Amino acid sequence: MQEVKGSGKKYVVLVPLALQGHITCMLQLGSILHSRGFSIIVAHPQHNSPNPQNQPEFDFVSLPDNVSSLEDTSFSNVLEILSTIFANFGSPLQDYLVQIMEKHEIVCIIYDSVMHFVDSIATHLKLPSIVMRPHTAAYNLSDLTIIRLYSENKLPMQESQLEEIVPGFHPFRFKDMSYLVTSSQMDDGGCQFWKDLNNIGSSRAIIYNTIEDLESSPLSLLQEHYKVPLFCIGPFHKFGPPIQTSLLKADNSCIAWLDLQPPNSVLYISFGSGSTMDEKQLIEAAWGLVKSEQSFIWVVRSESVNESKWLEKMPEDIQQVIRERGLIVKWAPQKEILAHSAVGGFWNHGGWNSVLESICEGIPMICTPFMADHGVITRYVTHVWRVGLEMESTSKREVIEKTIQRLMVDIEGKEMKKRALDMKQHLEVCVEKGGPSYDSIDKLTEFITSLSL
Ligand code: UDP
Repeated sequence: MQEVKGSGKKYVVLVPLALQGHITCMLQLGSILHSRGFSIIVAHPQHNSPNPQNQPEFDFVSLPDNVSSLEDTSFSNVLEILSTIFANFGSPLQDYLVQIMEKHEIVCIIYDSVMHFVDSIATHLKLPSIVMRPHTAAYNLSDLTIIRLYSENKLPMQESQLEEIVPGFHPFRFKDMSYLVTSSQMDDGGCQFWKDLNNIGSSRAIIYNTIEDLESSPLSLLQEHYKVPLFCIGPFHKFGPPIQTSLLKADNSCIAWLDLQPPNSVLYISFGSGSTMDEKQLIEAAWGLVKSEQSFIWVVRSESVNESKWLEKMPEDIQQVIRERGLIVKWAPQKEILAHSAVGGFWNHGGWNSVLESICEGIPMICTPFMADHGVITRYVTHVWRVGLEMESTSKREVIEKTIQRLMVDIEGKEMKKRALDMKQHLEVCVEKGGPSYDSIDKLTEFITSLSL
């Protein structure tokens, strides 16, 4: 058995989902718990392994998942990758835990909510478990709403109803929820899958990467549903020292370039680690950017398109404008960019880490939702916090140009910026001693400690 370092007594085992945004959250949570005196073991699937050198204070164990046997291990095949992990990772995880338990005391296992099968392993080994939801509370409620609507025979529904507000779930529209609401996969099997994802089994608590007073209404409904303590300790990344969680190497040249730009002048564009635009959408976005006359840093991940060939399809003079006015990089130091005074807006995909990182720096947004929780988060940004605009991924260049200008130039954008700065200030208070998230970490620490008494 691989030896664990830790300092001895109180081990918490973290089981992340093998996707960038989820790994980031789990490692940040590990860092918070480590600062509160727990020794951390990260037991993760081999696929998308985090780099152990980035957190030398943790123990990492990479367990077989059989994903390498798949022909396609790119994000576009994510459903097959996840079902392969679900089928193959549980048994090695259980064997590993048994070995560790012979020598050390595990206080609890904290698993990503998508890895729901971990609860039965924990129960089998008589270990307490806790669920970590890297999403908003509203997305959790959106899942439960889908289950409720199906049981009321209201799903699947017609495409023509997608713009309607979901009964009992204001201000969200059906289109903000999972694509399943109109899918033929929304049958008994589909609903069962959804139930499994949201069933916490015998887990003792749920940890959310959110802030209690930003989501008080969904949280009170969730509290009625799940009878266990809910700990809102977000934004995770604002606690403890900054940690490196990226699976890809960031192009740090962006920062020197930003240093040369005027304040609030640059639009940062990134759609996270999984969402992609096809060539046609990229070209449309590039035209919109050029016509908006704004400077930009644009992350175009290399696996998402055929290198820079898409750009070469544009007229030479337009390519020249793009090069003069912006930077296109494969992966960026996002948090540093958002904290830079030259950045005035962030066009993202409504990914929760990205949106949290943006509001923590007071940066207003354009959100282009692609999948999963992006719709719910985008609706928060545009209709609850009013710090951004929504723009569909299929938007034409004229709409892209206008939307960028609304955000970066118009009065409307300036008002969003003001509200975003107010949110930033509010979040700073939440993470200080005496603030709600800080207090929740104290309570979570006591709660985990009490599990071993
Ligand atoms: N990120 C980054 N550099 C990039 C793009 C993204 O460091 O060029 C980080 C970003 O800071 C965030 C995470 O990747 O922490 C993306 O998470 P999010 O939940 O926004 O989206 P996902 O990747 O899960 O779709």
